[in-house]
Amino acid sequence: MNSVKIQRDGFADLFSAESSLLTQNNSQSASPRAEFHAGACGFSARAERSLVDFAGPAFFPDGTRGVVRCVDAADLAACGVRGIVMNAYHLMSKPGAQVIKSVGGLHAFTGWDGVIVTDSGGFQVFSLLRENASMGEVRPNEIIFRRDGKKTILSPEKCIQSQLAYGADILMTLDHCTHPTDPYDVQARAVDTTIRWGRKCMDEYLKNSRGLRHGTPARRAKPPLTPEHGIFGIIQGGNEKKLRRECAEALIEMGFSGFGFGGWPLDEKGRLTEEILAHTAELMPTGVKYAMGIGKPENIVACVKMGYNLFDCVIPTREARHNRLYVFNEEFESARDIELDGNFYKYHYILDDEYRRDSRPISRICDCHTCQNYSRAYLRHLASIGDGLANRLATIHNLRFYTMLMERFRS
Ligand SMILES: [Zn+2]
Repeated sequence: MNSVKIQRDGFADLFSAESSLLTQNNSQSASPRAEFHAGACGFSARAERSLVDFAGPAFFPDGTRGVVRCVDAADLAACGVRGIVMNAYHLMSKPGAQVIKSVGGLHAFTGWDGVIVTDSGGFQVFSLLRENASMGEVRPNEIIFRRDGKKTILSPEKCIQSQLAYGADILMTLDHCTHPTDPYDVQARAVDTTIRWGRKCMDEYLKNSRGLRHGTPARRAKPPLTPEHGIFGIIQGGNEKKLRRECAEALIEMGFSGFGFGGWPLDEKGRLTEEILAHTAELMPTGVKYAMGIGKPENIVACVKMGYNLFDCVIPTREARHNRLYVFNEEFESARDIELDGNFYKYHYILDDEYRRDSRPISRICDCHTCQNYSRAYLRHLASIGDGLANRLATIHNLRFYTMLMERFRS
């Protein structure tokens, strides 16, 4: 068992993107609208509006348990957020798929009218099993998982059924997640499982999705024109190019709406595994290329250059709750001036004493609710007395930093 703790993108090891962005070798940017062309299974109308109708990449914050912590739907919309990534497994535990379905699905339940992607939860379960193998086991057709005295069975079929019950716009398949340091035979078995589960997920999706003919064997020949949900495949294979190709080819043939890079995208030192990420992006057809869990700003820059156009990560919200507020470097006079080479941003640790009498906003080029209305001194005060408003205002600012970064790609 590898001892490397699985935790998607973090700030433990910052490193700088080395190359200039969008100025070289990026054929994806030539026709940005085409970047979000959907695969055979298409997109929901909401996803069509929020992805296809916008040029350029998108960042979706994580709302794992049905909430982006500390902010509500109106805050998110005001920040320019277009979608949220929630977690099917966690929502299965609380409040339960049938509870969500009974109150009208996730959009009605959360008041969020933007895109909702539901991740299967496989990544989290495999992460927990890696830390403590006694918590469960992986069987050919399912994962058995025990936590807090409760046993959960995660199968491809159940995974899709729950995501359909939630009414998510984009469903993610259940995949077998590995770490890049796992040996070849482990990666190969994981790819076999991911392909087999991918097919089961697609069959379950086709059987249950509105707008699709039940049980049609000609699913690839007759894609639905207006599906209620899109469905993404996840490409595994660790650092093995041959396995990534094998996995990608099998999943592409199944006709998914888009594709995600599966597995752990950082090496032992926390550096982006650029070679395999770039290789996998090339294997994906034109359309949504989802760099799952990647969220350091410089890593997003590197991945956009490779062709990825959808990102999610806990960084902006988690860091906000730890009083770290992200800003573009002060030499930039406006959002349009932001140069994405090298070190283009930093953060203010708002509890530092230097902000005690600082009447300036967090960032003078930020148009968020926080920067338009409050000073660093007030935010420092709120954080120092532990008021919940500090977390909300910090989260709003950090999310706007990320949506401004996305807008910068488009400008
Ligand atoms: Zn701001």
